[in-house]
Amino acid sequence: MSMFSKLGDVLSQAISDVASLIVPPYCPICRSRLKDGEYFVCTACRYTIPLTGFCHEADNPMWRRFWGLVPIEHAAALFWYIEGSEWRKVVHKFKYEGHWIYAWKFGRWLGAELAAGGLFKDVDVVVFVPLHWIKRLRRTYDQAEYIARGVARELGVKCDYNSVRRLKNNPSQTQQHREERWNNVAGIFAVSRPKRLRGKHILLVDDVFTTGSTIISCAESILAACEGDVRISVATVAVSHKELGED
Ligand SMILES: [Zn+2]
Repeated sequence: MSMFSKLGDVLSQAISDVASLIVPPYCPICRSRLKDGEYFVCTACRYTIPLTGFCHEADNPMWRRFWGLVPIEHAAALFWYIEGSEWRKVVHKFKYEGHWIYAWKFGRWLGAELAAGGLFKDVDVVVFVPLHWIKRLRRTYDQAEYIARGVARELGVKCDYNSVRRLKNNPSQTQQHREERWNNVAGIFAVSRPKRLRGKHILLVDDVFTTGSTIISCAESILAACEGDVRISVATVAVSHKELGED
């Protein structure tokens, strides 16, 4: 692990620890005070998370979603993204309301599940689907980077911060039709120094898997830059219930 990424992890954890001294930690789901030994969410709420089980299941609907589109080794998401769910609101908090610490904590949770499932044990490096630099500047952080950091820490591998860049600041995809979304993601990523990634098993990390179009575009860019000499797996914190037709 590089000095920088190790320092980043130590800092993220230190800020989390210091913050919990100043503001007593509370459960983001039920808002009760956390007791000693509870981390991130309280024990009662921990049992309410709508886990997908994909971290332990190689042949799952998210993985099948990539069939015929891009070769993906394994794919998993921690929990179902369900409208009205308190868990979905926590994702909104780290995506839109500045609570990056929740991205880091979900990243660690996701990483622990991936490690426990055993499917991702030969991953060499974690790469995240980056925001465009203008968006990152506005938001002051990249939530996918914090998730990736947490995942890398739990898997005991390093996180690559520089190889993949976003060239286009594509507009929010939520208001568009499916076809428009696909047209929108062509050529939005660039890979610099692909030599560093060649021959490796890359775990591509993002916050939420909806249509998969952005992740596929990013995976295609990595495959093209490395001339196919990489294996790619995908992991996200949440996956849309609607998009995978699991209703
Ligand atoms: Zn709770």
